[in-house]
Amino acid sequence: MGSKKKVLVTGAGGFIGHHLTKYLVARGYWVRGVDWKPPEYENSPAHEFALLDLRRWAECLQATRGIDHVYNLAANMGGIGFIESHKGEIMHDNVLINIHMLEAARLNGIARYLYTSSACIYPGYKQDSPDVKALKESDAYPADPEDGYGWEKLYSERQCRHYKEDYGLETRVVRFHNIFGPLGTYDGGREKSPAAICRKVAMAKDGDEIEVWGDGEQTRSYCFIDDCVEGIYRLMQSTFSDPLNLGSDRLVTINELVDIVAKVAGKRVRKRHDLTKPQGVRGRNSDNSLLRRVLGWEPPMTLESGLGETYHWIEGQLRERGLLRGAQRTASAAVA
Ligand code: NAD
Repeated sequence: MGSKKKVLVTGAGGFIGHHLTKYLVARGYWVRGVDWKPPEYENSPAHEFALLDLRRWAECLQATRGIDHVYNLAANMGGIGFIESHKGEIMHDNVLINIHMLEAARLNGIARYLYTSSACIYPGYKQDSPDVKALKESDAYPADPEDGYGWEKLYSERQCRHYKEDYGLETRVVRFHNIFGPLGTYDGGREKSPAAICRKVAMAKDGDEIEVWGDGEQTRSYCFIDDCVEGIYRLMQSTFSDPLNLGSDRLVTINELVDIVAKVAGKRVRKRHDLTKPQGVRGRNSDNSLLRRVLGWEPPMTLESGLGETYHWIEGQLRERGLLRGAQRTASAAVA
């Protein structure tokens, strides 16, 4: 497309924001990246990268100045272990970020604004068995989202709608379902299940036991990062302003996820289920009917290929950090 439009990506120091920045730069956009930390694993390709705390009003005004389109990805977030134990902090930070970013976008005359919501807004009562029906966008109400993180997402989705209705701000709202891939956090407490499992398998010797949270029969669907940024971009180009799912609709159990990663790694691993660990809802899948209708597209990457890329990247990181000394060399060689 080669537009010279100026875009802002917030959360550009994070996983999806960094990939999105690369994608938009490659498409010819001028990109300002904003985060309160630089990207962890490689430099940002943004034309300008500003370290700002977007909980603060003045810094949101500064971030949105001279910009045409905003992709607002900044959020205090992490995997299930993190979001179940930091609810107050998450709601405090994310409400401030989103309420200030929308108002700053309005005052600075932003033409289009994308908000990144989550499958965590869907009600718990629709996700209480492993073979759940896939979640349609209209399933969001009556509301019973994930406590803390999910309530804030749902509130901010509504605020986008109100800014469109009240002020004519062109908002887009995407609900991600478990995005994974290289350059995602894989340790430290904020990692999500695919990255955590890749790390555990990479660090295991052939035949070792690895810890799995819950009984492993909880189900999810997983979407590869390249498909995620493509979907975000397509949604931003569309005229669709209601919330839209962006995810894969292939449902797998966590136990199956472990088996796929072990196969990629060429290792046999045994699972030790820890029933005391948080495991979130029992089952969650994305219904992609609306996605297909609105965008004429859906994520094409297979779970096996995506996990292959992710596993190799995490294994490489662990090796560079000298953390693979105890792990099975033959298994590493098998996947090289
Ligand atoms: P991430 O944690 O890697 O990125 C979020 C970034 O926001 C981080 O780099 C963080 O430093 C930054 N940030 C947090 N507070 C900030 C502040 N006060 N000021 C400036 N920057 C701040 O997460 P991600 O996976 O890249 O997620 C991006 C967006 O997508 C988030 O809004 C997240 O809630 C949403 N989302 C992600 C997933 C997923 O599976 N990754 C699923 C659903 C929704």
